[in-house]
Amino acid sequence: MEFQINKNIVSMGSLEVITGSMFSGKSEELIRRLRRAKYAKQKIVVFSPSIDNRYGEKGIYSHGKESLEAYSVNSVNQMEEIMTENIDAQVIGIDEVQFLGEDVVRFCKKYVEYGKRIIVAGLDLSFRAEPYHPVPELMSISDRVDKLNAICTVCGKPAYASQRLINGEPAYYDDPLVMVGASENYEARCRRHHIVKHKEEEKGKILFVIGTEIDAGKKEVEENYREKFLKGKKCETLIIKSRINEFEENASEVSKNDFSLVDLRNKVGKAISENDCVFIRIIGGLLLPLEGYYSILDFICEYRKKSEIVIVAKNKKGLLNQVLLTVDLLKKSDLNIGKIIYKNGNDEKEHEEVLEEIKDITHLEYEFVN
Ligand SMILES: [Zn+2]
Repeated sequence: MEFQINKNIVSMGSLEVITGSMFSGKSEELIRRLRRAKYAKQKIVVFSPSIDNRYGEKGIYSHGKESLEAYSVNSVNQMEEIMTENIDAQVIGIDEVQFLGEDVVRFCKKYVEYGKRIIVAGLDLSFRAEPYHPVPELMSISDRVDKLNAICTVCGKPAYASQRLINGEPAYYDDPLVMVGASENYEARCRRHHIVKHKEEEKGKILFVIGTEIDAGKKEVEENYREKFLKGKKCETLIIKSRINEFEENASEVSKNDFSLVDLRNKVGKAISENDCVFIRIIGGLLLPLEGYYSILDFICEYRKKSEIVIVAKNKKGLLNQVLLTVDLLKKSDLNIGKIIYKNGNDEKEHEEVLEEIKDITHLEYEFVN
């Protein structure tokens, strides 16, 4: 892991960047490297922006128990002043470097030229998952970058960005950085579970209506849903069917898919902007191709973060396996399933115990529609 201390190259100076989301152990790693230098009797200077005085003015805070004496500073100018008295330092450590602005890039370049080993730690992405300047600039001029991962608090996969939560809900893109009277916290999240809400996108919610078999009763369920939950709201229904359905002789009720994937995306985008709720009724199996090898399921996943799935199953004997397979496929794609709706018809109904069993296995609520 560590740079070899070679007398010939040490005078050249170097810049190391330790980055990653919150809770990824950046400060611990910075402290570990600085400690090693200290044990080797090298003179170290450590800076920590004073915005970050979570554990008092002295010492860098890290999420573990480790800490190290640091100069609490507000600006790069202050760092320069401190450096005039510590120009013999061999190693410079900077924690939470993202708070120091663009001047810190110039600072690092200068002291690397002077032959110092500089180690910085900081967030590479803001809570909006956008590059957090000046860390990207530091990364590109560095000799070495270590991007550390935290663990996603939702799924346990490697986390990619810091989720800002206000009163327990994902923050909006343009929420002010200080929110008076709100409880705020951060969690590490993977790409799938990192959510940045946009106020303009709130308007149209997408409800994908997916049947477990042909003629499950999607249309009736949708009408019922509108009656029950969306009275007075502006709704629109879009129908998506696979390329394969085009070859059917009587695709009578449903107009042919004469638009491309791009058109389809535009159509959905337009519907979202014009309605409170957009039903997207899926005709044909989820794994069937929409365009090329791109399946209907792939398309649904594009809207993962702003949609909910309603599963419709015909209430008849022997539905267990079909329902479980559909739920499993959707869950593995990390889609947001709302509930299962069983459509009562002329068929002999499934035992309620079976439906309860499905509820226990899938953790999904269910209801009936006649
Ligand atoms: Zn996750």
